[in-house]
Amino acid sequence: MDRLEKICAEKGLRMTDQRRVITRVISSADDHPDVEEIHRRAAEIDDRISIATVYRTMRLLEDYDVVQRHDFQDGHGRSRYEEATPEHHDHLINVRSGEVIEFVNEEIERLQEKIAREHGFRLVDHRLELYGVPLDEEKS
Ligand SMILES: [Zn+2]
Repeated sequence: MDRLEKICAEKGLRMTDQRRVITRVISSADDHPDVEEIHRRAAEIDDRISIATVYRTMRLLEDYDVVQRHDFQDGHGRSRYEEATPEHHDHLINVRSGEVIEFVNEEIERLQEKIAREHGFRLVDHRLELYGVPLDEEKS
């Protein structure tokens, strides 16, 4: 059982063979694939998996907080997914290629907590998305 499959079991999510393949695809992804990409990878393992099944499964996994959905404004308009992990990170999106870079910046983390505090809040969550063009591609 891989990590994600174990989490699903702990959360009482009934695992079918197809769901198992889909969670395995997400577990082994080191990018932030959309449903079509997840389907492409899952179908390589089991070609009976339909895109509708992937859509349904992703919605379910999201409801169970097993995966995190991102709606990056990268011009593609498709939700992208990653395994939900306890470790927090933020994202920098290359608007040219759609590539997503993960980062953690302690200064930003502290600053956000400070802003929340100044408004009388304790920060419980945040999402930060940076959009950029690679410097070496900028000259057109
Ligand atoms: Zn990420």
